[in-house]
Parts: sequence; C-alpha cells; structure tokens
Amino acid sequence: MKYCRCGESGILLPAVSLGLWHNFGSVDDFENGRRIIRRAFDRGITHFDLANNYGPVPGSAEENFGKILKMDFPGNLRDELLISTKAGYHMWEGPYGEWGSKKYMVSSLDQSLKRMGLEYVDIFYHHRPDPDTPVEESMMALDLIVRQGKALYAGISNYKAKDAKKAIKILKELGTPCLIHQPKYSMFERWVEDGLMDVLEENGVGCIPFSPLAQGLLTDKYLKGIPEGSRAAKEHGFLKTTDITEEKLTKIKKLNSLAQQRGQSLAQMALAWILKDKRITSVLIGASSVEQLDNNINSLDNLQFSKDELSAIETILSDK
Ligand code: NDP
Repeated sequence: MKYCRCGESGILLPAVSLGLWHNFGSVDDFENGRRIIRRAFDRGITHFDLANNYGPVPGSAEENFGKILKMDFPGNLRDELLISTKAGYHMWEGPYGEWGSKKYMVSSLDQSLKRMGLEYVDIFYHHRPDPDTPVEESMMALDLIVRQGKALYAGISNYKAKDAKKAIKILKELGTPCLIHQPKYSMFERWVEDGLMDVLEENGVGCIPFSPLAQGLLTDKYLKGIPEGSRAAKEHGFLKTTDITEEKLTKIKKLNSLAQQRGQSLAQMALAWILKDKRITSVLIGASSVEQLDNNINSLDNLQFSKDELSAIETILSDK
C-alpha cells in the first residue's frame, strides 16, 4: 500500500480506502463483508469509511462493522485503524433526525459509537451542507465533538467550493482545523475540478473522493447487460438502470479498450486517473467481493498516464 499525507495534517491515508455504504448492511452476506474487511486490512487499507445511515437498514453497516472489529481486530489493532463516520442524512423521525443542527450531529455520533462499540471515531464528517442551519452551528458541533474526544478530526462532505471555503475558515477559527473533504468525483462526475480542489489545496485540507467508479459504471461489469446481484439490479441499490444510458455505455466501451492497452482493468484505470492528481489523498472505493477489492488495489501498480492517454480520455469523455 502507498500512504499519502492528508492535506497539511499529521495523518497518512492509504491511497485506496474502503467504504461501507453498500454490501455491509443487514440485507447483505455478513461473512462476505467480513472477508472483504479482513482482506483490505491485510493489504494495507487502514481507513474504513461509514455513516450513520449506511445499510440497509440504516445503522446496520455500523453494527456489522462493530461486530467485525470485536471478532477480528482485538486490542491495540484499533490503533492501526482510521475509522470515519458521518451525520447529515435522514436517520430518525422528528425534527432532530437529519441535516446539520448541533442537537442532531451530537446525538447521531453517540448512536454511531454505540453501534460500532467504539469510544471514539478518527474522523467525524458533516455529511452534507444544510441550507437552513447556519454553517457556524454545524461547524461548532464538529468542534465540540472533537474537544469531547468523541472524534479526533473533523471533516466535511458534499460541500461546494464556496460553502467549503466558509466551513474551513470557521473550523480554523474555532481551533479544530478541517482535516478532509469527501466529494463525489469520477471520470463521469467532475464538479470538484471547478474550484473545490483549489480551495482544499490553499487551505491544506485533504481530499477523499467517493464513488470513484461511478458505483460500478466505470468497470467492465455493465458492458453486456445488467448482471444479477449487481448494484443496478438491486432494489435498494443507488445505481439505477436509467443511469446506464447508451451514451455512457459507448464511452465505457472506449475507456475499457484504452485501459486494456495500458494493461489495466477499466476499474484500475478509473482509480489511477483520480490518483494522478497529487492533491487527492485517497480514493474511497466500494467492493462487493474480495476479487473486486484486489483488482482495485492493484490499480496502484500503474498510476502514470502519458499525455496521449490523458487526451484520449478527454476526447472519449467529451464525445456527445
Ligand atoms: P464505487 O464507485 O467504487 O462503486 C463500488 C461498486 O462498484 C461495488 O459495490 C461494485 O458493484 C462495483 N465494483 C467495484 N470494484 C469493481 C471491480 N473491480 N470490477 C467490477 N465492479 C466493481 O464506490 P461507492 O459508490 O460504493 O462509494 C464508495 C464509498 O464512498 C462508500 O462506501 C461510502 O463510504 C462513500 N460514499 C460517500 C458518500 C457521501 O455522501 N459522502 C456518498 C456515497 C458513497 P457491485 O455491488 O455491483 O458488484
């Protein structure tokens, strides 16, 4: 594994981190999830990313992760792990169960810690900006949580450049610098290039893109239809069959040939393409099998792109 410094902090993150959004809930095969996490750690993935609502059912990914920690990571192995969770999306009924109030964020982390059987998480994120709560309040919640020792570092997710800049400034003034930003970023989703990456660099904040494979689209798996058991085939999956358009498939086919010419799978090329930017700390992948995990980690064997390859990718992506 390769480890990269997170912004200007003391923390190193593995270049590939594992997220538990899908495949680790109560609807999934527990032993399969357990195998993936054990394998990830054996291959040097020290960072595992969760959120209060991951499942389904919401909360069950944290519960399962807590069980796996207890079974397979006893004692001081906790100190070799960097565990994150988040609050922001809907979690429970009533006015205090989502968004960005201090009430919600503090209660949510308390619930997450119980589910995982942890005394603290390493990173606690505000999962999405709240248009109706002053950003000062959400950042004060992060600051409080860090001062209470329930999280070691604060992070933000899904904040656009302007909002991120404001949140980072407030956190700095409060004395709890923002460690990291978690945005959606892949060959198919490039909004971060339009200002956010500059804000993060200027402020020494790390960046860990989520859904770098566009939930599986940037692999060879949908080239011949929708396989049974894939995310697009699952009712609870967030990838919808309507996302798999002819236009996207044409691009995926061309990208797949280019990846083959580089001696990589398309998944590997898509991850390497993100990691080529030195401002990226880690790519946050998902995996439904140990084979996928291994395939993705092996992207680190070739992170170099020639100018011609980069412009060929741009041409494919901009084709209408
Ligand atoms: P990816 O884009 O990496 O998609 C993962 C899915 O792609 C897998 O479940 C699998 O789908 C497929 N896949 C992965 N590797 C391969 C491979 N080598 N070959 C073929 N198919 C492959 O990431 P996710 O969308 O899962 O997101 C990753 C993490 O990011 C989440 O777990 C979560 O921690 C975080 N996240 C954060 C969000 C936020 O708002 N902050 C929002 C969403 C995610 P299949 O199941 O079909 O096999």
